[in-house]
Amino acid sequence: MSRQIEGVKGMRDLLPGEIELWQHVEGLARELFGRFGYGEVRTPMAEDTGLFVRSVGEETDIVGKEMYTFDDKGGRSLSLRPEGTAPAARAYIEHAINNKEPITRWFYMGPMFRYERMKTGRYRQFYQIGAEAYGSKEAAQDAEMMDMVVQFLGALELKDVTLNLNSLGDEACRPAYHAKLVEYLQAHREELCEDCKRRMETNPLRVLDCKNPTCQAVAAAGPNVLEFLCEPCRAHFDDLQRKLTVLGIKYVVNPRMVRGLDYYTRTVFEFIASHPALGTASTVGGGGRYDKMMKGLGGPDVPAVGFAMGLDRLVLLLKESGRTFTSPPDLFVAVADEGSQDAALALASRLRREGLRVDFDTRGGSLKSQMKRADKSGARFTLVLGEAERTSGQAKLKPMAGGDAIPVALDDVAKTLRAARLATAQAGPT
Ligand code: ATP
Ligand code: MG
Repeated sequence: MSRQIEGVKGMRDLLPGEIELWQHVEGLARELFGRFGYGEVRTPMAEDTGLFVRSVGEETDIVGKEMYTFDDKGGRSLSLRPEGTAPAARAYIEHAINNKEPITRWFYMGPMFRYERMKTGRYRQFYQIGAEAYGSKEAAQDAEMMDMVVQFLGALELKDVTLNLNSLGDEACRPAYHAKLVEYLQAHREELCEDCKRRMETNPLRVLDCKNPTCQAVAAAGPNVLEFLCEPCRAHFDDLQRKLTVLGIKYVVNPRMVRGLDYYTRTVFEFIASHPALGTASTVGGGGRYDKMMKGLGGPDVPAVGFAMGLDRLVLLLKESGRTFTSPPDLFVAVADEGSQDAALALASRLRREGLRVDFDTRGGSLKSQMKRADKSGARFTLVLGEAERTSGQAKLKPMAGGDAIPVALDDVAKTLRAARLATAQAGPT
């Protein structure tokens, strides 16, 4: 016997039955983000490794430990994208979008790849829905973006999600904070993990993002970044909070939040869910402002703000809510005798062309076994087609939930089923 080949660890198959949840979330995002003026971009799965090293940062977990990096046959170092902001920025620069319009709003959705330890809500191929707004440095842009996320979570009917907010300052004020942080970390050097002892020298902000509880305790008692903000950064942060209040958005200021990527300046934010099903993977999304990244990648001096939501975690929460999104067939067409097979196939074809969801057992078989199939399919009605129906042009729609059969002309099946659909929709959920 030959060995069965299995899927790659951390990379899942999404099958019908579950995929409807994914489609529901993706559909809501497409529709809602469109209302905010965002257009969809699709960038390749792989990029030049240097793109992520220069934007996300060498010292981050993402680039330092989690990237799928390989040489292609031409000897180029490529990486499967671990996130979507850097690829979108690369595309924005490459297509010189800033020369075409002053403000650009893009969203993306699709798989990302990180070699992470597997647990609940954490996979190696996972999915993000994200958005980027280029061209405005104003706090209004940050607020508008958070409003979009809040409306999105609202449309998903997800409750108990808290918005955490912080500002990391800019090149004017961050150096003073850095210096203070390094001084503080030096004094606590012995309490830090080996990684953080190194990070302290190379990229001290990363210590605040360490998952090690001892490092987190050290970080929590350290200097507060907000006390170091320069006047323009302070004004920007105050402005943002005022605007969130105007929009009726609740938030919590968390001065220890830095996020796991290096490119942020000023605003950073996270949406944290409190559902036990997520375990430690409670951050459903996050983002921030990255006013310097474009220039750092050799592009124009364009300010930007963006976020990414973890689709896997949103789906997990939606699944917990017990709501279902599958749509059963409107009709099951059953065949009473072998001579009616072709007519049944043609009837199913015509009804599908007319917009109905129709199930039909191409194997034929006994009427009894077809009725079993019909039951299992969840179809609302079954129509049995035999010689009598073909001759008279009249059939019956049998409601699978019970009740009287509805007589119907074969030419009017679609019309009658659509009316039935409408009647249920008006009656509301049962
Ligand atoms: P975490 O602290 O949970 O590792 P992160 O800071 O690495 O998150 P980001 O890079 O900001 O996360 O990604 C945004 C969102 O993408 C996260 O909030 C999360 O919902 C989701 N996400 C990140 N990594 C994974 C993963 N390995 N599996 C599933 N979802 C993920
Ligand atoms: Mg992570």
